Amino acid sequence: VVREVVDGNMRSVNLAQPHVGRNELCPCGSGDKYNVCCEGNIDWPSILSGVASDDVYVRSLSVRGKNLKFLDFVGSLFQLDRFDKGIPWPAIKKACTPKIVQQIHYMISKLWPDKEDLVHCLEREKRGASGLYVGTYNPEAILRGITRHSLYDESILLVDPFPYVMGVSPELNPLQYPEKYVSNTLMNLWLWIKLQPWIAANIIKFVRTPSDFDYQLFCQSIDVEEKRYQTEPELLALRAQLLDETKNSEVFEQYRQFLFLRVPDSSLRRQIKEMHPHFDVAKVEEYLQGCRRLRDAHPYCTALPEPNGESPKSWSEFIITTTGTNHEVAKVMCALTGSHLVTDSAIRWKEIELDRKHNDLSGDDWEPVAKAFQATEFKFLNNVSLDSALQVRKDERLRDVRQFLRKLWHQSRSDNVMSNANAKLLAEELTDTMRHAEEEWRRIQVSGLATLGREIVASITQTIVSGNILWLGALGCSAAINAGRIRRKEALYANQNYPAAYFARLKRENG
Ligand SMILES: [Zn+2]
Repeated sequence: VVREVVDGNMRSVNLAQPHVGRNELCPCGSGDKYNVCCEGNIDWPSILSGVASDDVYVRSLSVRGKNLKFLDFVGSLFQLDRFDKGIPWPAIKKACTPKIVQQIHYMISKLWPDKEDLVHCLEREKRGASGLYVGTYNPEAILRGITRHSLYDESILLVDPFPYVMGVSPELNPLQYPEKYVSNTLMNLWLWIKLQPWIAANIIKFVRTPSDFDYQLFCQSIDVEEKRYQTEPELLALRAQLLDETKNSEVFEQYRQFLFLRVPDSSLRRQIKEMHPHFDVAKVEEYLQGCRRLRDAHPYCTALPEPNGESPKSWSEFIITTTGTNHEVAKVMCALTGSHLVTDSAIRWKEIELDRKHNDLSGDDWEPVAKAFQATEFKFLNNVSLDSALQVRKDERLRDVRQFLRKLWHQSRSDNVMSNANAKLLAEELTDTMRHAEEEWRRIQVSGLATLGREIVASITQTIVSGNILWLGALGCSAAINAGRIRRKEALYANQNYPAAYFARLKRENG
C-alpha cells in the first residue's frame, strides 16, 4: 500500500485486484453501500487496483469522498493520526509553513479538477435532502449556526472557504505567494478540522462553486448582484444598518483583536507605545508578553515574520472573508443539488424575498406554513457543546423534526400547486411536531445527554440562543445568469422550485 503526498499517487494502491463487496461501503466515500451507489456505474475494483489514472479516481469520488481525502491529506501533512479532541494547535501553527500552504491549495485543485466534475458531484447530492448554507463565514458563526441547524436537515452543504487556485490571478495566487496565505489557511483548516466529525458522519459537506471554474459566470453573477443593489433601496439601507451593527458586535471586536495580534512583535511593540505613551520599557514588554500569550492561545492567529529591512508590503498577508457564494450562484447550486438555501444573514434573506417578489413566484399558498414557522421557537441545542450536538444527531434524536421537514422540502420543491387547505394541514403538523420535539428535548436535557459548552475562539461573553425560523415555500429559480454556462443542452432553471429556510433571527443573551 502506497500513500501519496501531492505529486505521488493519490490512492492507496492494492496490487492484487481488490474486491469491493456489494454490501460494503462504497469506495467513492458517499457513505452508502456499494450496491446502491456506484456498482454498475463506476468500476471501483479496477480503479483501486491502480489501473486507472488519478484523474479517473478523483472524478469517481463523491463530495464526501473528496472531503475525506482532503482531510487525510491534511492529516498526513501535519502527521496527525486521527482528528480527535486533542488537536495540537500550537504545533500545527508552527508547522504551517508556506510550503504546506502551497501543498494544501494544490491538493484542492487536484481534488476538484473542473466544472464538469463539480456539476456531476453536485447532481449526485440530489439523492439526499440538504440545505446550502450561505451566510456569516467566520468559523465561530459556522460552528454554532450550522451544527444547530443540523437538527433540521439531513445534510448541509458548505462552500469551501479555501480559494480555488486556478481561478485566482497570478499576483494573488496562493501557489505563487503562499506566505501571504498562512493565517487564512490556518483559519480554514481550523474550521475543516473542527468539522471533521461532522463530515465523517455525513452531515456536513464542503463543496466548491461553479464560479470557481468559470470567470465569466463569476462576473455575470456579480453584475446581477450589483444591479440589485442599485435598484433596491431596501437592500442598501439594510446593508448600511447591518454594517453599523457589526461594528459594535463581539465578533467584530474579536476580529480586530486577531488583526492586532497577528503583526510581528516589533510592530506590536510600536503600537503598544502609541496606545500607551506613558508606559515605561518594562511595562511595554509586559504588555507585549500578554499579547503573545493571547496569540499563542488563539487557534489560528500567528505572527507575521519580522519585516527584515524589506518594505512592509512584502510581509503583508491576505485575509479573505466570504459569505460562501453570492445569491445567483447559490441558486444554481440549489438547482443542481436539489437543496434549499439556509442563511443566518438578514441581507441574504432580503435578497431571497426580493428575488421572489420580482419573479412573481406564487409562494403565498404556503403562508400558513410560514406563519407556523415564525410562531415556533427553536430552542434545541442552545449552548450545547459541539460534541453533544453531534451525539444528539448520531443517536437519531429529534428525528421526527427532520423527517417532517424533509417531507416539507420535498413538497415545496415539487411542481404541484399547494392548496390552502393542504398548507393549513402542514402548518398544524409542524406545530405538533415541534411540540413533541420540545418534550423530547426536555427529556434529553434532564438526562444530561447534552452537555453545555461553547465553541469559541477567544472570550465571547454573549451566547446566541434560540430564534424562530423564517420560511419561504416554493421559491423559483430565475434565470438571471446564463444557465447554458453551467450545463449545456439542458435548461437548468426551467421550473425549478426550492424552498428557503432561515434559521437566524437569533437573540443574544449575556452569560
Ligand atoms: Zn459510490
